[in-house]
Amino acid sequence: MDDIDLAAERTDMLNAAAIQAVLERAESAPSTGICRACNETIEEERLRANPYAKHCRDCADEAEARAQMTRRCGPR
Ligand SMILES: [Zn+2]
Repeated sequence: MDDIDLAAERTDMLNAAAIQAVLERAESAPSTGICRACNETIEEERLRANPYAKHCRDCADEAEARAQMTRRCGPR
């Protein structure tokens, strides 16, 4: 019985490592062309400039504006 438990545990660990590897690869993979924030398609010229862009221009602008606000006022 112990052997089976150990084997199951090992499989779990392997699965976790495999999932982690997939996630990491997805993080560095070229963009899907879909904005992660609003699910709109990312502008083609934007993708050509940055194949790894994860957000459309609107969402990227918004994120940048928010980042600037945070820099100016400090995190709240
Ligand atoms: Zn967007």
